[in-house]
Amino acid sequence: MKRIFGKPLITQMEIEKRVKELGTKITADYEGRELVMICILKGAYVFFADLVRNIHIPVSVDFMMVSSYGAGTSSTGAVKIISDLSEAIKDKDVLIVEDIVDSGLTLSYLYKTLRSKKPKTIKLCVLLDKLERRKYETPIDYIGFTIQTNFVIGYGLDYKDNFRNLPYIAVLDEGEAEQLLNHRER
Ligand code: 5GP
Repeated sequence: MKRIFGKPLITQMEIEKRVKELGTKITADYEGRELVMICILKGAYVFFADLVRNIHIPVSVDFMMVSSYGAGTSSTGAVKIISDLSEAIKDKDVLIVEDIVDSGLTLSYLYKTLRSKKPKTIKLCVLLDKLERRKYETPIDYIGFTIQTNFVIGYGLDYKDNFRNLPYIAVLDEGEAEQLLNHRER
């Protein structure tokens, strides 16, 4: 996808700069501790890969796949764990890394679920925060950008499981996206 798709909201350079700042802060906050970073799939994988490379202490990583949206653009209201952690997190310092928080349902569910596994500490890091849409309160410790309520894609975020590979974040233009998806060879 060489041409600009969607309405760019956050550029590649802006993301790079902010991820570096978050990495520096997390490095300082967790110096000398045993940090386990948990990537929430699929949406956070691009952010996670960049973030871990901007953290300059030893970290271990694990992955969880959850789903709350299905294929659409609004929450189904229920969080489903599709795949769980591979290692125990008891007595570890845990940092959950998520792509975006909207109503807060997914993160509050993950927070409660992982806290019950008795980690030493548990914190949350999100790339994007749709603050105005919050229904479920969850304390978020690290936030990349606060954005408006539009549905966004790119840098890991999808529309119908596509467009995660855009290197920037764009507001979804549903008409343009559908046109592109429908014109592919089958
Ligand atoms: P919440 O549970 O906070 O309502 O929704 C969080 C989840 O919904 C995110 O992990 C993400 O998968 C999805 N989501 C929320 N807003 C957007 C958006 O603007 N774009 C995309 N692609 N996914 C979103």
